[in-house]
Amino acid sequence: MAPIDTKSVIQQHTQNNKVMIFSKSTCPFCKRVKKLFDELKVDYKAIELDEMDNGKELQDTLHEMTGQRTVPNVFINNQHVGGCDTVLKKNKEGELMNLISPPTDKYDYDLIVIGGGSGGLAASKAAADLGKKVAVCDFVKPTPLGTSWGLGGTCVNVGCIPKKLMHQAALLGHSLDDAKKYGWQVPDDVQHNWDTMKTSVQNHIGSLNWGYRVQLRDKQVTYHNAYAEFTDPHTIKAVTKRGKETVMTAAHFILAVGMRPRYPDIPGAKEYCITSDDVFSLAYNPGKTLVIGASYVALECAGFLAGIGLDVTVMVRSILLRGFDQDMANRVGDYMETNGIKFIREHVPTKIEQLESGTPGKLKVYYKPSQGGEEKSLEVNTVLVGIGRDACTGTIGLDKAGVTVNPKNGKIPVVNEQTNVPHIYAVGDILEGSPELTPIAIAAGKLLAKRLYGGSNIQCDYVNVPTTVFTPLEYGACGYSEENAIAKFGEDNIEVYHTLFRPLEFTVAQRDENVCYAKVICNKSDNERIVGLHVLGPNAGEVTQGFSLGMKCGATKAQLDATIGIHPTCAETFTTLSMTKRDGGDITQAGC
Ligand code: FAD
Ligand code: NAP
Repeated sequence: MAPIDTKSVIQQHTQNNKVMIFSKSTCPFCKRVKKLFDELKVDYKAIELDEMDNGKELQDTLHEMTGQRTVPNVFINNQHVGGCDTVLKKNKEGELMNLISPPTDKYDYDLIVIGGGSGGLAASKAAADLGKKVAVCDFVKPTPLGTSWGLGGTCVNVGCIPKKLMHQAALLGHSLDDAKKYGWQVPDDVQHNWDTMKTSVQNHIGSLNWGYRVQLRDKQVTYHNAYAEFTDPHTIKAVTKRGKETVMTAAHFILAVGMRPRYPDIPGAKEYCITSDDVFSLAYNPGKTLVIGASYVALECAGFLAGIGLDVTVMVRSILLRGFDQDMANRVGDYMETNGIKFIREHVPTKIEQLESGTPGKLKVYYKPSQGGEEKSLEVNTVLVGIGRDACTGTIGLDKAGVTVNPKNGKIPVVNEQTNVPHIYAVGDILEGSPELTPIAIAAGKLLAKRLYGGSNIQCDYVNVPTTVFTPLEYGACGYSEENAIAKFGEDNIEVYHTLFRPLEFTVAQRDENVCYAKVICNKSDNERIVGLHVLGPNAGEVTQGFSLGMKCGATKAQLDATIGIHPTCAETFTTLSMTKRDGGDITQAGC
């Protein structure tokens, strides 16, 4: 075996870690230095020389390289700093953080974040916590109908938060039916009030908007309610609603501008349709509604609108929930259909006409088969378009900054969130290939700030990101779909364990039998490691979140079997899965 080059080993450590400590596990000075970095919330890498076979050789080489024999031997940004006394002294004199992330007096700010949504706010707060001078620009261009909102981005204002609350409104409606079976004397003519729901949800959002402003102020992040665009690679121009312009420069930029709903290119779309950007603050009950699209946004909106009692139809261009396990997607659709939502499959709209104005008015929707064919029409009060979202990267001067954008979809290719321009980064929905989900935007933003300013080397992990579609029966998923698992590992290497199940709560309520479903996909060639987990049932998000930790830890089917269930729950179903798809046995359930 070739001798290990200890100098290269040391250099690799000092180059790959912003703060590198060569330490000994029993040394009190080493502990003191590590404690200091912990207190400063600075990530570091420490290797304990006394626990390594070649620790002595490494210590000798460190002596040769630095003239320092003792530990701790600390390097910052690949530069030798010294031992415990030197580090403590530099901290006392306020120099330590400057070594970790050098000041940038040349610019107005260390960091400007464009976009105050999930990713932008997380990054800006984390950078400010690490002592950086930060500004955030957030601006909402009103929808064609004039809807606008406050600080916090999509999730808070027109995404996850109002969606989940309106989903809850729908679930409560369903619970009223159940409640009767459980002895509650609920009158038969209980009505839902749109205005009450909308106002309560908007009040909650208002409190969140306010909370974000306070957080930014407390952390001394400068907030500009202004639309930002680059004028050169280190300069932006931020313009307020009233046209007031501010020019600002920064050493680093993080782009977190998110996405906005797309409209179909057909007559009447922008004039008469609403999108998810409008529905949660709509001033009137939308009435009979056509939802166009068949992915997350469309199916979730259709679900809660039907759940509060509206007549809802979904127009599907091709399949439901593209990208998801199609067995699960079809079960989601079947449940919606048997619970009163109508589906017009394999059709697309061609024109929207207004028959009557009003709140709501009346619209006539013309549509035809996706593959071409005879045009038909349908009358509704409201058309909600949920056909995807476009990245807001087209009008922010990226050409002036030299940032490369994928011209096909406006998304930004990055390596570890860094664009092709080294001082410009991007997080959240606008990243090429990243899931468009709030927790990923937040994690990426926070971790990026810690890498830039806190000496961290922890990257955002985009693998096995769990997600839930909040349709009337919720669908939670983590890892591979069955189709993708087969494509990746080969059909022979995949074992799919599955079952239908009936939540106990459904029994007394006399709710549907054999609609809830659990499925685990295992890689037989890797000890039956779980590579996909899917659940359709109540609280699927809560169930999936827990099991996603298991998947992160590399759980196998045997470990799932060895897990004791919590009875009576839906999640316990996963601890008792024995039927495989390959066996083809009967998975219908009767009884507890
Ligand atoms: P955003 O949160 O969109 O923030 C971008 C901000 O930048 C916006 O405020 C925008 O107005 C602003 N901006 C844009 N351009 C400029 C500019 N030039 N200058 C200044 N400001 C600018 N995710 C989940 O995880 N769970 C869910 O249940 C869920 N439900 C959703 C439901 C709906 C209806 C929708 C539409 C999305 C949902 N999402 C959900 C997705 C989630 O909202 C996004 O993934 C998340 O908000 C992305 O965060 P971001 O920081 O990338 O962008
Ligand atoms: P999406 O996932 O891009 O899906 C777009 C849907 O619209 C597809 O069903 C597509 O059909 C259809 N479509 C596209 N163009 C069409 C046209 N011209 N006419 C008719 N139908 C058309 O978009 P999305 O639902 O807006 O979701 C965007 C992202 O937001 C998601 O990827 C998700 O990450 C995030 N989100 C998350 C949640 C959650 O976590 N619960 C909820 C909502 C949104 P085809 O299949 O035929 O292309």
